[in-house]
Amino acid sequence: MSLAEIERYDPECVSCVGERAVVVGGSIAGLATARVLADAFETVVVLERDPLSDEPAARDGAPQTRHPHVMLEAGRATLEDLFPGFCEHILAEGGLMIDFSTDIKEYNRGGFLADARERYPTYCASRALFEHVIRQQLDSVENVELRGGRQVTGYLADADASAVTGVRVRNGDTEATLTADLVVDATGRTSQTPRWLEAHGYDAVPVDEVTIDVSYRSLRLERPPDDRRMRMVAPAAPRTRGAALIPIEDDRWEVIVQGIHGDDPPTDRENLIEYTEQLPVPTIANLMKRRSWTSDEIRQYPYPASLRRRYEALSEFPEGLVVMGDAIASFNPIYGQGMSVAVLEAVCLHHALAAGGLDAIGNRFFDRSEGVVDNVWNIVVGGDFNYPETTGPQPTGAGLTNWYMDRLVRRAQSDPALSEAFARVTRLEEPPTTLLEPGIAWRVLRPATSQLSLRSLGRRTISALS
Ligand SMILES: Cc1cc2nc3c(=O)[nH]c(=O)nc-3n(C[C@H](O)[C@H](O)[C@H](O)COP(=O)(O)OP(=O)(O)OC[C@H]3O[C@@H](n4cnc5c(N)ncnc54)[C@H](O)[C@@H]3O)c2cc1C
Repeated sequence: MSLAEIERYDPECVSCVGERAVVVGGSIAGLATARVLADAFETVVVLERDPLSDEPAARDGAPQTRHPHVMLEAGRATLEDLFPGFCEHILAEGGLMIDFSTDIKEYNRGGFLADARERYPTYCASRALFEHVIRQQLDSVENVELRGGRQVTGYLADADASAVTGVRVRNGDTEATLTADLVVDATGRTSQTPRWLEAHGYDAVPVDEVTIDVSYRSLRLERPPDDRRMRMVAPAAPRTRGAALIPIEDDRWEVIVQGIHGDDPPTDRENLIEYTEQLPVPTIANLMKRRSWTSDEIRQYPYPASLRRRYEALSEFPEGLVVMGDAIASFNPIYGQGMSVAVLEAVCLHHALAAGGLDAIGNRFFDRSEGVVDNVWNIVVGGDFNYPETTGPQPTGAGLTNWYMDRLVRRAQSDPALSEAFARVTRLEEPPTTLLEPGIAWRVLRPATSQLSLRSLGRRTISALS
């Protein structure tokens, strides 16, 4: 489900369903979830193992916070719903608003996508700043308490483990328990919930794992204040290298260089520039050569595989427990979808609570949020099967979807209508099925294809994408 399909946040639709909710993990999923739970519980406690700073700061508990993060429209709009003034706050803290149609150029499959005809604001900041602003805004919600330096070590449960009733939490050398009507696991990819479930007699959570073996290198460059260029050169099969240039606060650009399936970017400056020079667009390597580097190190992040835990497939799941964000699904980060998916899921939880309170909340939430994950999994993770080295369960119809997307993107290099439609889907504003609407499908399929095969291709593609 995209932004256009999801019911938006409406604080009026929820009433109080319990005394205390505990959110484990104070990153994007945890913070957005705490906001929606504040409408439904007398108190909400967020337990985060990292110390929480009053300043924007990268954190060891979420090491990706040291790397560039793009905020897609679905995430931005939802955060603005949850935290009115979010965008103004980002700007007030030094973030930038750039125009998607003129400041951003995306090179994809042999050319730049055509400039969109509409102006479209896009907000840019470091990941640490995005998180800092969300945390500040959550801090002003009266019944939410953010506790840093708290490591959750396990769940409390009733005698037959049919309900989770709280958590065990370590604070330095002391361990205590905290009871709750609802516990939310927002601990990211390394979530321990699957292990806990199995240890307590539940079925193993089915997992889809799709290898991509992405290596990230990132660094910062000095940026002239009025230069707001953003450039994206995504890896596209058979090219295994990519890079992006993103303007952020403090007159900096963040640069990411990515290599996939073992084509790891070097970790020293000279060789990294040489590697980046081999991309089809020279801008990023040129800026790496000419601009001062403001980061003292080249940061690294290995990302082996996209991972999807299919909680929706479990017939039994404990009461009083929900799992959110990367703990459910973590995607190849090259397309920057994770934060947006996490906040859309928080809105799914909000509506699940509004519709049925705490009764079977886990199962009802997984059913609602499945579509949010599907959207990204099918297009982004499915797209990784363009590389023959990618292994794992292919989303249904991945071959045909990839064929269609490849053709669409190539046409989008000279067709602004296609480039806009593609951007609305990748920003998670519109569902992928909009790319099959007759006006779009015709532009994609038109050239050099007979009427007959056009009709049958259209039919087969619709069933693969829907
Ligand atoms: C290299 C990289 C680049 C990315 N780029 C983008 C991007 O451009 N755009 C985008 O939208 N997304 C991006 N993502 C994804 C994004 O970072 C995540 O989707 C997002 O942070 C939401 O994740 P989360 O909150 O579910 O989990 P995480 O961010 O992983 O946070 C989990 C939190 O739980 C805490 N925790 C864990 N265990 C415990 C415990 N036992 N007790 C207490 N606390 C605990 C951790 O300290 C951490 O703070 C990227 C990811 C990576 C790896």
